[in-house]
Amino acid sequence: MPAEVAAILSPSESVLSSVYDAAQRIHLEADILELLKTPWREIRAQLPVRMDHGKLQIFEGYRVQHNGARGPYKGGLRYHPKADIDEVRALAMLMTYKCALMDLPFGGAKGGIMCDPTRMSMTELNRLTRTYTQHIHMVLGIARDIAAPDMGTNAQTMAWMMDAYGQLHGHTPGIVTGKPVELGGSYGREQATGRGVAICMREYAQREGVPPADIRVAVQGYGNVGSWTCRLAGQMGFKIVAIGDVKGAIANPAGIDIAALDKWVALAGSVAGFEGAEPITNEAVLAYDCDYLVPAALGEVITGENAGAVRARVLVEGANHPVTPSGDEVLAARKVVALPDVLVNAGGVTVSYFEWTQNVQQFRWPLERVNDELEARMVAAFNGLMARAALDGTRPRQAAFDMGVERVAQAIRLRGFV
Ligand code: NAD
Repeated sequence: MPAEVAAILSPSESVLSSVYDAAQRIHLEADILELLKTPWREIRAQLPVRMDHGKLQIFEGYRVQHNGARGPYKGGLRYHPKADIDEVRALAMLMTYKCALMDLPFGGAKGGIMCDPTRMSMTELNRLTRTYTQHIHMVLGIARDIAAPDMGTNAQTMAWMMDAYGQLHGHTPGIVTGKPVELGGSYGREQATGRGVAICMREYAQREGVPPADIRVAVQGYGNVGSWTCRLAGQMGFKIVAIGDVKGAIANPAGIDIAALDKWVALAGSVAGFEGAEPITNEAVLAYDCDYLVPAALGEVITGENAGAVRARVLVEGANHPVTPSGDEVLAARKVVALPDVLVNAGGVTVSYFEWTQNVQQFRWPLERVNDELEARMVAAFNGLMARAALDGTRPRQAAFDMGVERVAQAIRLRGFV
């Protein structure tokens, strides 16, 4: 694709460009490609919320259900000022292929509300979440569409959503995953995405034949995904040398003491100001001298403009869609290996599947079972993807889309959608 075209694609057009690529390689029928280009259903909802200061504020929220051929729609809910309809659409498309790649019996969906949760009180967030749920409850259901946390939302958000849905339909814990354990959540769900990221790092390091202690890692984002990646990869022996969040960034070439950092973040609310490291700029995290770079915050942070500055040899995509197509071309030309989001951060949706399964069966698994089954599925998916890439001579992202699109297409054919 010409660089000037790649540079102006919207998030959903960027995801679609990977699907078009895959469609050519796997000789996908034109009708199925046509079906995959647009979501099955998009809801745009007006969400009036009485704020604590007494004034009414109107937010805009979305639920996008991209493709349900493989099972009920599944996807997170994002609260962010930039979570507009196109970004949510892109994330819903990614969920379709992520669930297929992991062989989970789900389709792909995503929700979003354009808001800044860091500037809202708990009571405002509670009201917003309930209003959103009341607006979209008719398309949700344990066999229809199941939500989960994403950026700006957490277990508490899921508890409010479950409660609001339950008021209309009766108690239905399986309507959301990533809930608090006390309300039917699964042990191990909170750590699951970071655990999956760390497993991918360990598996790739093994293939390279490099011990984790010799691998320096930089991480952008210290929320759910970034912080658990640092803790669990740190336990595996990786050296975490740089971390950034929305308020600032820090670096220590000798390795950051993650336990001490956690104590600091609990008090300060940010990695910025931590005494066991030097302050750096957020952009410097992406260009930091390291071996593995883990974007674990926003999408589209590595572009055609800054991809040339990435010094890592491996990009481990904890965030969804962290690289634009033009950024991807620059990385590929520079032989930087990008382990794609649809594999790397799939630990979250995998344990969400376990949580949903437990809810449906009204039976709780112990933590060891959750972690063991996650480990087995992540390693199998990692090996399957790398084997396919080796067989076809493709890059990991291409192999991931080839496999994901193939599996979704086969479900479409079998159901007789086209
Ligand atoms: P989160 O809200 O818990 O944390 C986000 C982190 O990113 C915070 O540390 C925040 O300070 C940081 N951040 C925000 N804007 C930033 C900026 N401009 N520069 C640097 N840092 C910034 O979110 P999360 O759940 O950890 O999600 C992070 C990414 O992982 C998202 O792309 C999300 O879609 C993806 N993801 C999350 C899950 C999950 O289970 N939570 C699963 C799969 C993928």
